[in-house]
Amino acid sequence: MNKTNSGRVALVTGAANGIGRATALAFAKSGYSVVVSDIDNQAGQETVALIKAAEGDASFIRCDVSRDAEVRLLIDGTVSAYGRLDCAFNNAGIEIERCKLADGNEGVFDAIMNVNVKGVWLCMKYQIAAMLAQGGGAIVNTASVAGLIAAPKQGIYSASKHAVIGLTKTAAVEYARKNIRVNAVCPAVIDTEMFRRASTDNPEHVALAVAAHPLGRIGTVAEIAAAVLYLCSDSAGFTTGVAMPVDGGLTA
Ligand code: NAD
Repeated sequence: MNKTNSGRVALVTGAANGIGRATALAFAKSGYSVVVSDIDNQAGQETVALIKAAEGDASFIRCDVSRDAEVRLLIDGTVSAYGRLDCAFNNAGIEIERCKLADGNEGVFDAIMNVNVKGVWLCMKYQIAAMLAQGGGAIVNTASVAGLIAAPKQGIYSASKHAVIGLTKTAAVEYARKNIRVNAVCPAVIDTEMFRRASTDNPEHVALAVAAHPLGRIGTVAEIAAAVLYLCSDSAGFTTGVAMPVDGGLTA
C-alpha cells in the first residue's frame, strides 16, 4: 500500500459492490483509512477483507442511505472511530426501471428517489456538518450520464441523477468558502453487476452499450475510481461544482 494519504479518512457508500468497492480499494491503496458502508453486510465485509488483505485500513458500517437516523449514525460513527472525515464518496444508487415514463409506477419512483436523491442529500447533510467542524473536506457524488442527457426507459433514474447534479452544484457553491469541495462523477455504462442485471434477457443490450461509446467499449470500475480519487485529491483544489463525465466520449 502507498501511504501518501496516511492519516486521511474516506467514506464510501454503496461500497459492497461495483464502483463503490473499487473506489474503496483505490482510497485504501492511496493510504486513506476507509469506512466501507452499504446495506449489504456480507459483501461490505468482503470489501473490508479485500482492503485488509492488501494491508490497507478499513472498517464496515451498515447504513441504508435513505434513512436519516442511519446516515447520522454512519457519519457520527466515522468521526468517532477515526477523528475526522476528509473525503466522502456518495455512491449508493439503484436502477430498477426499464419502461417508458407513462408506464412507470409510484412505487418505483419513490424507491429510486429515496436512495438516489434523498440518500445523497442526507449523506451530504451530515458530512458537511462534520467537515465544517474540522475546517474542510471533499465530497464526490455518483451521478451518471443519465444526469446530463436523456435516458430512454430510465426516465425516473435520469431525473434522480439530474437531481444529484443539482444537489452537488448547490452544495459546492454554498460551502466553497468553507473549504469544502463538492463534485460529481457521471459514468456512462460501466461493467458492474448493475449493468449485467440490465443485460440479462437482453443480449442486444451489451452490443448497443458498446456501440454507444465513441471509444468502442464500456468503462471499468477502476476508471471511475481514478476520477473520484482525483476529485478528492489536492490536485483538484480549484475544482468544485463539476459534473465530470467519465463516459468514453458518449456525451460528446
Ligand atoms: P451495484 O449495484 O454494483 O452497487 C450498488 C451498491 O449500492 C450495492 O452494493 C448496493 O447494496 C448498494 N445500495 C443499494 N441501495 C442502498 C441503500 N439504500 N443504502 C446503501 N447502499 C445501498 O452498482 P454500481 O454499478 O456499482 O453503481 C454504483 C453507482 O454508480 C450508482 O449510484 C449507480 O447509479 C451509478 N452508475 C452506475 C453505472 C453503471 O453502468 N454501472 C453508470 C452510471 C452510474
